Amino acid sequence: MRIEKRIVFNTKYDESAGKKAFEIMDKKYPGMKDTGSFIVKLFEDDPKYKLLIQYLEENNFSKFITDDEMFSKEEMLSAPIMQMKPDSYTESRPMPKKDYGYLKESYDQNSGCEICTKGKIQNRPLQLIERTSLGKKDIVGLRWTNGFLVSKRFKELAEEAGLTGCEFWPIIKYKEKKPFEEIFQLKITGVMPKMANETNIIHDFSVCNICGHEKVYPKGRIYYNTSDLRDIPDFALTHEWFGMYWDIWQWPFMSQKAYRFFKENKITGVRFYPPEILDK
Ligand SMILES: [Zn+2]
Repeated sequence: MRIEKRIVFNTKYDESAGKKAFEIMDKKYPGMKDTGSFIVKLFEDDPKYKLLIQYLEENNFSKFITDDEMFSKEEMLSAPIMQMKPDSYTESRPMPKKDYGYLKESYDQNSGCEICTKGKIQNRPLQLIERTSLGKKDIVGLRWTNGFLVSKRFKELAEEAGLTGCEFWPIIKYKEKKPFEEIFQLKITGVMPKMANETNIIHDFSVCNICGHEKVYPKGRIYYNTSDLRDIPDFALTHEWFGMYWDIWQWPFMSQKAYRFFKENKITGVRFYPPEILDK
């Protein structure tokens, strides 16, 4: 696994500084943008990354850096499980949106917290506006519920492959109250074991003032013990509830079998992040 850094930096419209930065990276200078900002990606272990940061810091140029974990093909094919994150999200959001109305419409009112959503159990189909589409994708993310929408093709292939830990729920057109024919919810029903103690869980120290849940999220790699990973279904949600601010959900994982299903059927739209598996 290598860490890829996405660096957004700004040379305050100084053209020669911009050129110098790209010279350091041995990359072609793309020209000054209206915003004055540049976006580049470099591996953390690439010496050019250190040199670029040094240059930006020496010149007091602003920078914003995010990390992405990049895995080799061999690492992906030997990972028993992996976290799944959507490449993109549908522009639609669950309805009705006013005052989190979708929580009342699609989730068990007696479950979880109405405000931070921790512990919420969906017991009825989600509703989306009529013009919702997946474009050419077979799977996209759904904001506000941390879920996934899939195509009819995905549903049929997954059922044929016998993937476990999931159901395909209809999605209801909000106004017409009829189901979409081509769009389904990938409703993940499997649950992961607890993460290993080695996982660095950060406490946000902000607490939901309704249910008292303290917001937490994992920093860096997620760890699981081998002995805890027996009989994990092909799709499963983390035992833990993570999130920030007012949006707390379990995170989705999938099996190696599900990963191969995506690859064999050329299903794009999710990124895969194998956790660290401890030999205990
Ligand atoms: Zn709460």
